[in-house]
Amino acid sequence: MSQMQDDRLLERLRAGQPVLWTNPDYAPAEDPQAAADVAQAQADWQSFAPLLAALWPELGASGAIRSELIAVPGCREALAAAAPDLATLLVKGDHALPVAGSVKARGGVFEVLSTAVAQARAAGLLAEGGDIATLAGPDARAFFAKRRIAVGSTGNLGLSVGISARALGYAATVHMSHDAKAWKVARLRDLGVEVVQHRSDYSAAVATARDIAARDPLTHFVDDESSALLFNGYSAAAAELKDQLDAMGRAIGPERPLILYLPCGIGGAPGGIAYGARGVFGPDVHPFFVEPVQAPSALVQMRHGPGRETSVYELGLSNRTEADGMAVATMSQLVAERMRRRLAGVFTVSDDDLFRWVAMADAEGLRLEPSAASGFGGPRMLQGTEAGRAFCATHLTGREAAAVHVVWTTGGAFLPEEIYQSHVAAGRKLGPASGMQGDMT
Ligand SMILES: *Cc1c(COP(=O)(O)O)cnc(C)c1O
Repeated sequence: MSQMQDDRLLERLRAGQPVLWTNPDYAPAEDPQAAADVAQAQADWQSFAPLLAALWPELGASGAIRSELIAVPGCREALAAAAPDLATLLVKGDHALPVAGSVKARGGVFEVLSTAVAQARAAGLLAEGGDIATLAGPDARAFFAKRRIAVGSTGNLGLSVGISARALGYAATVHMSHDAKAWKVARLRDLGVEVVQHRSDYSAAVATARDIAARDPLTHFVDDESSALLFNGYSAAAAELKDQLDAMGRAIGPERPLILYLPCGIGGAPGGIAYGARGVFGPDVHPFFVEPVQAPSALVQMRHGPGRETSVYELGLSNRTEADGMAVATMSQLVAERMRRRLAGVFTVSDDDLFRWVAMADAEGLRLEPSAASGFGGPRMLQGTEAGRAFCATHLTGREAAAVHVVWTTGGAFLPEEIYQSHVAAGRKLGPASGMQGDMT
């Protein structure tokens, strides 16, 4: 990107207009470390399966928390107006993940179960090679009941951690930021979770929660800003995606690259998935993060580079958005570090477009919350902007039409019907999304 292009980008960013930033340090390659980490995460999930099946019968005997890979011809056609090379568009449907109704079922559940197993082992409640399903039994419950799991969250991570902690019998505390949705608070309280509502934004709520938890040795704090367990839990999703693409006859390789559009808040979920995808697909995957125009924390951090925490407030942005889970001013430094060479780029989307895509996806039978629809902005960013076309010329070189575009839809199944219908109505009223307004550099 030239200096002039970067100046233009900054100008649009400050003005709250959608932009695409491509990562100058991007270096797609085989990644043995990521491959080994994904294999370990998969093995851990596999070892949890009997306990998952015991805690949530809806998972069936497999005890697997999986989502579908869905063909969306209607969405493809709608988006192809602004992105003509869009031959294959698929949705990875984490909006309908069991247990938590969002992508957080992959991270939060993994961390709570990992913690439970570690504590039970240390206390002699679970022998090496013992039956992990006994952790759903009365003795383990009594043991967990004396302990607490705490987390700071804008919503969905709180739901996922609260649900799994209570399922095992833990006491649970969820610290929520000022923008927490009332129905999520109510749902957590119904489960017996203590909800503390802060008047501050997400980062401040997490910091307070961390301080409080640190004073109690019987509390485990799920740290959304720096947890390796959350990250590992998310990463296994990439292996699931690979199996599904293979089964569909669309194996990814040099001739059929994969482009991922991943909604980003603090960065853990999209970062974990992108990291796992690098391990599983090597140089043939190109992951992009998506953020709201007023909360592009990953964009500003990755553009700035390592060395200093960078916040969206510095650009005069508000960090306000209807996209629940994405109102984050400063991204996870752990994720920033791991993404430096692995992330293709970051783009932003307006709230209005989120509602439009919620309505578009509704017509195809997908029930999304606004944040979960953000990935639909990807194809037009890649094909309708100068930065996107330059990226394609460098990394797709003649394989544009063969590329598989996957929009990761991250949440929505638990939205109350009335709220969901109001989002769909808002999106219909706005009408179809356009291409990029004015060509951006
Ligand atoms: C949490 C969440 C995200 C973003 O995940 P981070 O780990 O915060 O980056 C995106 N969409 C939805 C629906 C979420 O719940």
